[in-house]
Amino acid sequence: MLKNDTLDSWDRDNFFHPSTHLAQHARGESPSRIITTGSGCHIEDRNGTRLLDAFAGLYCVNVGYGRREISDAIAAQAQELAYYHSYAGHGTEASITLAKMVLDRAPDHMSKVYFGLSGSDANETNIKLVWYYNNILGRPEKKKIISRWRGYHGSGLMTGSLTGLELFHKKFDLPLAQVIHTEAPYFYRREDTSMSEAEFVADCAAKLEAQILDEGPETIAAFIGEPVLGTGGIVPPPEEYWDAIQAVLAKYDILLIADEVVTGFGRLGSMFGSDHYGMRPDIITIAKGLTSAYAPLSGSIISDKVWKVLEQGTDENGPIGHGWTYSAHPIGAAAGVANLKLIDELGLVENAGKTGAYFNAVMREAVGDMAHVGEVRGEGMLCAVEMVKDSEKRQFFDAGEKVGPSIAAALLSEGVIARAMPQGDILGFAPPLCLSQSEADEIAAKTASAIRSVLG
Ligand code: PLP
Repeated sequence: MLKNDTLDSWDRDNFFHPSTHLAQHARGESPSRIITTGSGCHIEDRNGTRLLDAFAGLYCVNVGYGRREISDAIAAQAQELAYYHSYAGHGTEASITLAKMVLDRAPDHMSKVYFGLSGSDANETNIKLVWYYNNILGRPEKKKIISRWRGYHGSGLMTGSLTGLELFHKKFDLPLAQVIHTEAPYFYRREDTSMSEAEFVADCAAKLEAQILDEGPETIAAFIGEPVLGTGGIVPPPEEYWDAIQAVLAKYDILLIADEVVTGFGRLGSMFGSDHYGMRPDIITIAKGLTSAYAPLSGSIISDKVWKVLEQGTDENGPIGHGWTYSAHPIGAAAGVANLKLIDELGLVENAGKTGAYFNAVMREAVGDMAHVGEVRGEGMLCAVEMVKDSEKRQFFDAGEKVGPSIAAALLSEGVIARAMPQGDILGFAPPLCLSQSEADEIAAKTASAIRSVLG
């Protein structure tokens, strides 16, 4: 086995890490960790340190680590047939079975699923399909896409543009011109603090409508949003938000893309966030929880309404000019089939609702009254603790003070992984859906202790 310091220097010399301060990493100034194994909600690194992973990797290892049911299915598929493509009507038992399992779980009005590899490429697919759809319907000018500030939809050219976080635009010449950002449904950070929740929702909808009218409704193709804002701060929507937004979209014939990369397959305690909030999307993006990240696989679930137009398009123009070599990769599909079965067998959607509510309650109890905690919020197995300089005045810390990252680092030294969300001093929690009550207690108690150690 290679020595740790050999691996460290190979890492610094050769490996371009995503979402990393490249220069600090290359100089060995920033923390790094080599992970070796995992079981349930815990991972272990090369030094034998065991950590409770309260962010499930990148909110993706929904069934927890070390599930033999999935790794055995992957091994069996790799031995039987590691690869065949899915172009021109080809498939495998795994990919066809998984498509049926996804549609069986999706809202009733959904028709087909296209498989990609990542959440980003699935959203790129979605935007291409929306453009194709409007071209087939003879509306070539209806192409702009609206997303929200603080939304996260990936880091490709189009998806990085849809993402409403500055870090993903700055110095990359993004966003692209076809993308418009609108108000985030972030009640705690509303500009006018005198607004009630209902007034804020009405204001979000009114701002959206004004932007649509300003651009010209005939130019707006789709609205994309996560049922619960994720990377932008883990923010459940205010009551009636989705009803108000959908009413505006319906008025101007604008498609709704529900980006369920985080919320799909149980994280909110419902199979999909769309069910949870009464959304009726035209397209649903899925990834992470589809395989619990045991293999890379994503998907675009297409509604009957959009599907009919896609069929019409191929009758008029020939085969659809879209596909990846690895679309519906059999190993990913086998992982997906085993993963969805396991979610059912273990009752993980139910546990996400029940233990998730318990987790949010104990977190609120442990830290809710602390001087620098502005808000504790969450839904299902998602929770966020937002830190503020002054909670009465709702005054935020300067980003340069790095309060969020310091608390996350203190928590890590106590053996718990949370995520310092990229914009604002927000500690994010998204544990595996198999979290137990005692693990929830441990995360909450250690979060309180980490906050105390940084802010007194
Ligand atoms: N959409 C949402 C809501 C996400 O949270 C993410 C990733 O975190 C993505 C899309 C992009 O997925 P990927 O990182 O697999 O490209």
